[in-house]
Amino acid sequence: MDVTFWGVRGSIPSPGFDTARYGGNTLCVEIAPKGCSRTLVVDAGSGIRALGNDLIARPGRAGAAARIALFLTHTHLDHILGLPFFRPLYHPSTRAVIYGPVISAADSLEKVIGGQLSYRYFPVRQVELSAEIRYVDLTEGVIEIGDGIRVEATYLNHPLLCMGYRFEQDGKVVCTAFDTEPFYNIFACDPSDPGYDEQMSLEGERAAREAQERLTRFFSGADLLIYDAQFTAAEYHAGRTGWGHSAIEHAVAAAEASGVRRLALVHHDPMRSDDELDELARIHGGFRPGGGPEVLFAREGLRIRL
Ligand SMILES: [Zn+2]
Ligand SMILES: [Zn+2]
Repeated sequence: MDVTFWGVRGSIPSPGFDTARYGGNTLCVEIAPKGCSRTLVVDAGSGIRALGNDLIARPGRAGAAARIALFLTHTHLDHILGLPFFRPLYHPSTRAVIYGPVISAADSLEKVIGGQLSYRYFPVRQVELSAEIRYVDLTEGVIEIGDGIRVEATYLNHPLLCMGYRFEQDGKVVCTAFDTEPFYNIFACDPSDPGYDEQMSLEGERAAREAQERLTRFFSGADLLIYDAQFTAAEYHAGRTGWGHSAIEHAVAAAEASGVRRLALVHHDPMRSDDELDELARIHGGFRPGGGPEVLFAREGLRIRL
């Protein structure tokens, strides 16, 4: 499997001189399974525009992008805003399946994505896309896509229902946790708090611990884990709890707990300059002591072969 990063930024595209080396496009990761003509894509941030152009230009594609499976982690704008600029969707020979979680049957994925492709926001309507597109509303569990590829989805901890994915082929495993924050006790823990209830507090503690353990099992043994690392621990603890994003230290701890081989950090804060990312990579990057994972700060164009 080859994994290519087409967009690594979080929240909003952030082009500029200060972000040119890591890249300013929002999240889009391509997974190319070995010996398979199908292209797997995770998220349609602004990075998907360059992926679309590249797919069309590849030899043997004859101007089309053939079969595409796009897995949306969730429908926050930074993860879908590139979709209208994904050229393969304008080609009649493209067959695309778009997978993603929904919060209610009334708000199907097709409706949510179609809402973006309406005259109010964009000159091309969804019905005018030439590709054959099928939408699949997801809940947790195994997703059957064939070709010897196993895909599994699980819920992360984010203000909007957000999926983590696990892709497996020929014993190689790639997992994604794009927008997530460590599970924490949502009830008051301080006895001096007027809302404190001992039973509720203990229950909240247990629920958070179990949810985190479940996620640890979900990522276990991955060759590559791609993880939200928007903040540093200091930034996270300075009023950013509950925003739905992790600190670099959280991502490293999750990778160590799951025994993954390599950790790629993404969803870089849009305010983070290249020089600041270099400095964070100097502190947190490289091989962790004691046989822990190799930690990489992902940048646009990075390709990892598993
Ligand atoms: Zn995001
Ligand atoms: Zn989000």
